[in-house]
Amino acid sequence: MTTAVFFDLDLTLLQYTDDFETIFERALPNAPDGAYEQYVEGLLHAFDHLSTTPYRAGFEAVVKEFDVDAEPAELVSRYHEAELAATTVPDATHEAVSRVAAARPTGILTNGALEMQHAKLEAHGLDEIVDAVVVSNDPDVAARKPDPAIFRTAEESLSAANYVYVGDTYDEDIVGARNAGWEAFHVGTDGPEEPPERVASVEEAARKILD
Ligand SMILES: [Mg+2]
Repeated sequence: MTTAVFFDLDLTLLQYTDDFETIFERALPNAPDGAYEQYVEGLLHAFDHLSTTPYRAGFEAVVKEFDVDAEPAELVSRYHEAELAATTVPDATHEAVSRVAAARPTGILTNGALEMQHAKLEAHGLDEIVDAVVVSNDPDVAARKPDPAIFRTAEESLSAANYVYVGDTYDEDIVGARNAGWEAFHVGTDGPEEPPERVASVEEAARKILD
């Protein structure tokens, strides 16, 4: 029986060298007080409403509310560049994903914007390793974790008898996967104390999956 494996992207495979407010300030240096909060509100609202251009919505909210001398499109482009530059994939994580992908149908299942998520995958050579990429705010997907619909789309993208998910966010990744009938490994520390599915790392998840 085939088991397909999907990995979450942000904070599971990808780590960040800076926090998101620092990245925001690289796109908009000397941002007015409250601009970051306004941006986050616009961004998250757009993400939740399945916008295909959530970063633009975030920066449009800032430009509308504050006296900022820049076009939203220019801010989005600077932000994309700054966020991309702040991402890393540890070698051990990269190797673990490669090992899994050599043995199982393997994909990425991520909440995010299509262009940004693909840029991150390409920047770290992950797109070449995996067989499928499912991004929530892709109009062809249009569902966000923990909605079971995004897990159904992932199943359609990789045919298998069983599915496993590896993610860092308990409510979105672990609860979402389980509600969709998947097995799950939790590489984060949020959620219940010492749940049995918790693993210390993507490498440990890979070892258990390939056991
Ligand atoms: Mg994550």
